[in-house]
Amino acid sequence: MPDRSETVVSRFAPSPTGLLHLGHAYSAMLAYDAAHAAGGRFVLRIEDIDSGRCRAEFVDALEQDLAWLGLDWERPVRRQSEHMDDYRAALDRLQAMDLLYPCFLSRRELDAALSAPHFRAMRGPEGPAVVDADRLLPAAERAARMAAGEPYALRLRMAAALALAGPLTWQDEGHGTQAADPAAFGDVVLARKDIPTSYHLAVTVDDALQGITLVVRGEDLFQATHVHRLLQALLGLPTPRYRHHRLLTDSEGRRYAKRDRALTLRALREAGRTPADVRAIVGL
Ligand code: GLU
Repeated sequence: MPDRSETVVSRFAPSPTGLLHLGHAYSAMLAYDAAHAAGGRFVLRIEDIDSGRCRAEFVDALEQDLAWLGLDWERPVRRQSEHMDDYRAALDRLQAMDLLYPCFLSRRELDAALSAPHFRAMRGPEGPAVVDADRLLPAAERAARMAAGEPYALRLRMAAALALAGPLTWQDEGHGTQAADPAAFGDVVLARKDIPTSYHLAVTVDDALQGITLVVRGEDLFQATHVHRLLQALLGLPTPRYRHHRLLTDSEGRRYAKRDRALTLRALREAGRTPADVRAIVGL
């Protein structure tokens, strides 16, 4: 039995691709409040593996915004871009279990292959779900592409992984016990062509390394938890509890996005709003 008195460790894990908006504030404050109420710890993690989209200035800005909101967090802050070795080690482990294969195909090549009548194409939560993509290229062409140093992604052999892991569940606050069913993702990409890891792998490894016991994040990431639960099982990592919160919407019912400049925490602060105002707006 898990120790129910264990410390709550929650986290906020933004990608520094823009200024934080009210939706981020809601997520961060929910996570912070949950840890605080339980006498636990709150961790900030910078998810900056995508160096083409992430900017240092947004890291500074988000730390200022969170501090303005009255949150504090443990230091040093983990930045994913500084820990590629940890993700490599996880990939090595999966590779040693024969659960990965290289995929050279571009999105265009994959789309073409998936529309072929003999191919078992599925639509997954992240677009086309690919199964056995390594069979789409003749072995000789794969070898030639590899010899030419062409970049490739690493995909998880989903069917083999599921067979190895067996039935899995996670505890989702508000939704109860969930059966993990990541098959719809197909052979999910765990290392991208351009980045030697993926969101799914990095987030799973980091939640374990940082001792996270409660993952608070938007319900847009609910589906991703199916994949994360499987990766935890394959890598022998503990499973946190999850709370997937509703997504805040603007007055027209649209999800907050980086385009909504007026709803950034910076703009609200400059307009004279207080952290208490922000709490009231998001209903906390
Ligand atoms: N970095 C992700 C984002 O900014 C969140 C990841 C997570 O909470 O698991 O959307």
